[in-house]
Amino acid sequence: MATPSFHGSPWPDQACPHPGCQRHIRDLLAEMVSTQDQQTPDFRAVVTQQPDGAIPCPYCQQAVEHAADGKSLQISARIPLRYARAKMELRAKDYGAQKKLRWQS
Ligand SMILES: [Zn+2]
Repeated sequence: MATPSFHGSPWPDQACPHPGCQRHIRDLLAEMVSTQDQQTPDFRAVVTQQPDGAIPCPYCQQAVEHAADGKSLQISARIPLRYARAKMELRAKDYGAQKKLRWQS
């Protein structure tokens, strides 16, 4: 029960905090983070909606992180987690197939 789910949308439904972007973020694409980066405390912070872990905005690629309230997103000065290109490509390919994807092979 305590295991954070990477699927669905546990994310705050709100605008990107970066002034030049402000696009509506519905999904931070945590499952697209490289498997290596998913082992880090930063990733755990992101998926559990805690501060101290940054992820790129899906639109502007600038770092965002959860505020201490666990709800809002704020601009982060941290180095964000990286998306894995291979996962992004796989996702694009399987998107229409509506398969349930398993990232760890
Ligand atoms: Zn943005």
